[in-house]
Amino acid sequence: MGPAATRPVVIIGAGIQGCATAFFLSQRGQPVIVVDKDHVGRHASGVNAGGVRRLGRDIAEIPLSVAAMDWWNQIDQLLDIDKGFHRQFYVKVALDDAGADLASRRIQQLHKAGFQHETWVDRDQLLCRIPHLTKSVLGGVLVQGDGWALPWKITRAFHDKAVALGAEFRTPVTVTSIDRSGEHWQVTTDAGMIETDIVVNCAGAWGGRIARMTGDVLPIEAHAPMLVITDRQPIFLQSVVGVMGGTLSFKQLDNGSMVIGGGKRGVADVARNLTQIIPAGLSSFVMTAGRVFPHLRDVAILRAWAGIEGYTKDDLPIIGNGGEAGIIHGFGFSAHGFQLGPAVGEALADLVMARQTRVNLAAFSPHRFAESPDQTSRR
Ligand SMILES: Cc1cc2nc3c(=O)[nH]c(=O)nc-3n(C[C@H](O)[C@H](O)[C@H](O)COP(=O)(O)OP(=O)(O)OC[C@H]3O[C@@H](n4cnc5c(N)ncnc54)[C@H](O)[C@@H]3O)c2cc1C
Repeated sequence: MGPAATRPVVIIGAGIQGCATAFFLSQRGQPVIVVDKDHVGRHASGVNAGGVRRLGRDIAEIPLSVAAMDWWNQIDQLLDIDKGFHRQFYVKVALDDAGADLASRRIQQLHKAGFQHETWVDRDQLLCRIPHLTKSVLGGVLVQGDGWALPWKITRAFHDKAVALGAEFRTPVTVTSIDRSGEHWQVTTDAGMIETDIVVNCAGAWGGRIARMTGDVLPIEAHAPMLVITDRQPIFLQSVVGVMGGTLSFKQLDNGSMVIGGGKRGVADVARNLTQIIPAGLSSFVMTAGRVFPHLRDVAILRAWAGIEGYTKDDLPIIGNGGEAGIIHGFGFSAHGFQLGPAVGEALADLVMARQTRVNLAAFSPHRFAESPDQTSRR
């Protein structure tokens, strides 16, 4: 099958979703132009926690996450890189009875839905795998084969490979309007107009604004989850650790530093591209980390940051065709879209080429938010 369109497809956004889509389209011989108002991986895709997990996903998202993991398991060959994915295991530990109950209900729910990838490990097994865990741990829910990656490295690698295959990236270039012109779309930017048959909206937290330019009203809110990185410690952890019923994300990098997050948000200013850290939020998840790993109570925090991310009302991404022909959306990943990136890129490329997608995207349909322009405030 040849290209879907003779004019280059325009992808808005050079985060992981835009870069992965550009990669898959370029691999199939489809010309693409990617525009970004900043630079490759400048926002969520370059600054996230790098968690590559199927663990804890909404059931509707598991098939997409499993499809993404197929790509992660071959990411080095796919993108010509080394150590792209640290394949380990991901565990959410139960620190109390409430956590253990939650774990047992979660596993039952998954089994009922036909998924077996999350398993319970008891206290002794867990302490054997992670000796530095608090001795009061009760057990945990574990997924073997989940792990982590360096976000900027992966996003950049999708970009580099897409460029090597012929994709064109234009940065910094801001899309200011999108208008129908007969059968085509005119994408107006601060660096001129691009005419195209197909626009792919991978604009992250700004995706709602881009959607609105095409006539689609898709509710999305911007928030700024925060992370910290610590000084270097002797290597003691070969897994990613979270907490049942909590939002900790804890990993140790190859250089010994630990990246710690915990769902706490700073302030996102999408108009000015800025984030603001809220120290109380940082200390709450750093304290949870100290509870899980008591030997780290005195570790030094070197740096804290936040990234701007788009959240939908149901925390599931928006992936699918827009209201008008030639508009395709892929945004709103609600703080768990990095792992999904390769499968989303593949799915968006399939939609561009009008192919059957590998994963059923019904749960992510933009049309599930049937709002009219007057029902929603400008986001
Ligand atoms: C702190 C933090 C931790 C996270 N941790 C994890 C994790 O451990 N695991 C996980 O799976 N996910 C995680 N996530 C979520 C993940 O980072 C995102 O879901 C994912 O990166 C979204 O990718 P994207 O390409 O949709 O968006 P982005 O990376 O935000 O890219 C969108 C791009 O669109 C561009 N753009 C916007 N408007 C315009 C315009 N008008 N013209 C041109 N360009 C435009 C922007 O400049 C931006 O570069 C985390 C997110 C954050 C912030």
